[in-house]
Amino acid sequence: MLDTMYHSYMLIDGEQVQALSGRVDVIYNPASQEPVGEVPVGSRQDARLALQAARRAFPAWSETSCQKRAEILHEAADLVRERTDRIARLLTQEQGKPLKNARAEVRSSADMLDYYAEEGKRNFGEWMASGQSRSIVLKQPVGVAALITPWNFPVDLLAWKVAPALAAGCTFVAKPPSKAPIAATEFVKTLIDAGLPPGAANVVHGPGSEVGAELVQSPISRKIAFTGETKTGRWIMAHAAGQIKRVSLELGGQSPFIVCQDADLEKAASACTQRAFSNMGQICISVNRIYAAEEIADQFTAKLLEHTQRLRIGNGLEPDVDLGPMFSEAQREKTREHVADALAKGASLLCGGREPEGRAFEKGFFYLPTVLDNVDHSMRIMREETFGPVAPIMRFKTLEEAIALANDTEFGLAAYIFTRDLKTAIFASERLEAGGIGVNVNNVVDIQAPFGGWKQSGLGRELGHYGLEAYLETKHIRLGFEM
Ligand code: NDP
Repeated sequence: MLDTMYHSYMLIDGEQVQALSGRVDVIYNPASQEPVGEVPVGSRQDARLALQAARRAFPAWSETSCQKRAEILHEAADLVRERTDRIARLLTQEQGKPLKNARAEVRSSADMLDYYAEEGKRNFGEWMASGQSRSIVLKQPVGVAALITPWNFPVDLLAWKVAPALAAGCTFVAKPPSKAPIAATEFVKTLIDAGLPPGAANVVHGPGSEVGAELVQSPISRKIAFTGETKTGRWIMAHAAGQIKRVSLELGGQSPFIVCQDADLEKAASACTQRAFSNMGQICISVNRIYAAEEIADQFTAKLLEHTQRLRIGNGLEPDVDLGPMFSEAQREKTREHVADALAKGASLLCGGREPEGRAFEKGFFYLPTVLDNVDHSMRIMREETFGPVAPIMRFKTLEEAIALANDTEFGLAAYIFTRDLKTAIFASERLEAGGIGVNVNNVVDIQAPFGGWKQSGLGRELGHYGLEAYLETKHIRLGFEM
């Protein structure tokens, strides 16, 4: 816990401000339920002030040279790196993740600023000749962007939006998650400290149903970039439709992990363990469903259990902890319900399935990493996003069957396959219905490659040059020579 209660703020027009109403909320550490800090609770009115500030700042920022924008983004990246420890400690305390993971998240957000500082310089247009006319194609910033983010990676997922938005020449208003807003605000503050003009970067706190809704519905915002639940994404899409507003949606996942007969089982088990339990399974690309070829399923399961039982769980501030608590009681309860439903329908519990014992775990939202065997698609765990530390295993006979099972979901964010055979890898990759396919890797995130979902996992792409495109409009200027 911090020596003193941390006092957070909103950022509007370059100033650190409190809510107009004066209301504040207390943020608690999910590992101990001790108070971490206070944050202002904004309203629609606060959101409007922030949107107006972003609109005032837009003309000058959109006309600032890409070199100058890059200078500020690089400077902010340096500041984030300098402040890594402080921001990471705040992140661990409000979100629960181990300090080593919080540090990695903060460093990754600095990398994002550096990447888009340079990518912003590559916003190229086109020139086309046609008889007595010429066509010039320009890519121009879309305008004020509303950036709405969830609690599982509150700093990094905001950086995925902030960096390309600013590099494209947009100004923004961010709404971090209500229950983990502190580190994200500190991250945005580095941009202001790095010399970003007042109003170009704004942060408003408050309930999504109020502050978030205002950002979506206001005529000032021209673009909504959202990461969160599919249910919220549907609401946002429906309400943005009234103004045909640009939307990017990064939503829920239900990622399959296929282990073929010829896979390197040790590598597959280690990769699967990490991707199923990291951040307590509260990752949109977590492994949610494991399909193991029946010839190797027992061997793979034994290795998975071995790796799982090595994981150390505890308060994220303690050294050498692999897993922290879950983010909230609601998340833990949903996990318990999914496990209970699976067991009632015939699944076998191989490990976990309960809270760890001992005084250190009494107050936090801890839950042991859980492995289930003999699951099937009648169970909620195989159909809904659990967002918890559970690895359910199902066996398959043929690759076609595994692919059909993997695709039997409304989600389509990530899918993984472990095989040593190139033909199998390509055959499956081309047929799996997901925005990112990991072949012999457990991560489909790469700063330079597109990230996003198929089906109800989202709309649009982040990262790489695709991430910049999301904040640009296309304009065609037709020049005629004959008067
Ligand atoms: P939510 O959808 O509940 O919330 C996300 C953000 O939206 C929060 O800031 C929330 O505010 C805000 N919000 C809520 N209602 C509205 C509204 N009506 N209008 C505008 N904004 C609103 O998601 P969670 O925070 O629970 O995050 C977990 C989810 O995020 C999981 O489903 C996960 O799969 C998904 N996710 C997807 C990723 C991807 O890239 N595809 C990556 C990471 C997570 P408040 O906090 O005040 O409720």
